Amino acid sequence: MTTGPGSQASLREANTARVVETVRKYGHITQVELTAATGLSPATISNTVKRLVAEGMFRTESTVHSGRRAQLVSLARQTGLLAGVQVGRRSLRIAISDPSLNVQRTKNMPLPQAHRADTTLDRAALLIVELIEDLGASVDELRAVGVCVAAPVDPETGMISVPGILPGWEDIEIAPVLGRRLNRPVSVDNDANAAAVAESRRGGLRGVKNGIYVCASYTTGAGIIIGGRLYRGTRGGAGEIGHIQVDPAGLICNCGGRGCLNTVVGADVLVESLRLSRGYSSLGDVIREANAGDIGCRQVVGDAGAQIGAVLADQLTALASSRVVVGGELSNTGDLFLGPMRDAVESRPLLAGTVTFVAAPLQGQSELVGALTLAYDEQERANKAVKS
Ligand SMILES: [Zn+2]
Repeated sequence: MTTGPGSQASLREANTARVVETVRKYGHITQVELTAATGLSPATISNTVKRLVAEGMFRTESTVHSGRRAQLVSLARQTGLLAGVQVGRRSLRIAISDPSLNVQRTKNMPLPQAHRADTTLDRAALLIVELIEDLGASVDELRAVGVCVAAPVDPETGMISVPGILPGWEDIEIAPVLGRRLNRPVSVDNDANAAAVAESRRGGLRGVKNGIYVCASYTTGAGIIIGGRLYRGTRGGAGEIGHIQVDPAGLICNCGGRGCLNTVVGADVLVESLRLSRGYSSLGDVIREANAGDIGCRQVVGDAGAQIGAVLADQLTALASSRVVVGGELSNTGDLFLGPMRDAVESRPLLAGTVTFVAAPLQGQSELVGALTLAYDEQERANKAVKS
């Protein structure tokens, strides 16, 4: 048997590498999807999967996919850990996963208002170590870290590109600072962007060429997928729909602009509109009471859906996206929020019947899984750099 370039053996090797890389990237994937993603023939996929199962590299399980029986392929042996960090305005979330992004441990922590980057990153590093040890693993097993933040991030510099949105985090080189504490490669992006990539690989935007992930939480942001890839725009500013002006005579936003969407549907504004009559103090209260049937809360949630929907309709008209995946706390009210949002989009003649809406399948974890996805990609880049 020859093993030179172009031989059967080297072709098989190249095909195997492509199949393994694709399974690692998607975590779990059906054989049909694997065929489409690799461009290899169904017979080659079937034989390669069979061989790798026999070799103990892959495992398969039966599942039902789009109403048909399918074989779900995933990696059997996994070494190494990834860490994801989500920095919000008032909270820090950490996740540790295996290399296929199966989450093993998570931790949520409230943050004080206007928390500082250095102390928060210190805390994040300590929590990562704590969670890894809690798994019975060693920090040596950590391969890479992904951080997503509630502000636009310039992909060129890895720094927050718009002042005022996440005070205390401007001019901070987040990746080098955390990288030095953990001695691992770190990748940083905006939270909605990271979530859009996660939804695109393993959630509601999987297989969708042109789609938008919307996070309706304390503020509203979006991640835009065009041609199957994340669109970041200049200085990473694409998808900042919370800063689109909806009221030229409105309040001043933390970005400095007047009447941004966030000044109308931001959590503080929603809570404030109910304080006098209901006395609620958090977005969690509003969501819980809306789900319990309080008419005032339902009104506030529905109006927010309609207002975000109107801004989204403009974006959808410009981008001709076919799917919207909605995450963030407000989506936990289901159709109370999604219904008016969908209606605002459907009422536009150009958009009627062209856009499907789904609640984020990653259920409140899109951003955190997004951060893990950043870690995954960072690890892949580091591996490639070592090989070349
Ligand atoms: Zn603004």
